Amino acid sequence: MRSSDLFPIFAAVWLALGIGLWLFSRRGSYHRKKQWHLVLVAGAGVLFVCFAYALSQRAEVLYVAVPAVILISFLNYKLTRFCPRCGFTVPRTGLFSRATYCPRCGGKLDEDTHL
Ligand SMILES: [Zn+2]
Repeated sequence: MRSSDLFPIFAAVWLALGIGLWLFSRRGSYHRKKQWHLVLVAGAGVLFVCFAYALSQRAEVLYVAVPAVILISFLNYKLTRFCPRCGFTVPRTGLFSRATYCPRCGGKLDEDTHL
């Protein structure tokens, strides 16, 4: 299969994943978000690397894509927090900073660091 044939598939899968994650972020409970966060972040990273390799069909792409995806996924996992009071997904506030209070309800976020 040519890489030009794969791009519409990549775009459709990535769009569906984005919509699914957005819905999960909006409607998922606090416990469900905590439970699935690592799986979703890692799964999206692996999927992106697979598509990057399939679209380029060059192994050299992996030298850049794999470290970049690992770094971005790690920061996403470490810096995204969930409000135990209202379940809101609190995105990172800066490249290396984390929110302390929920911007929706004002509740204090838990100190769980995942590791
Ligand atoms: Zn909240």
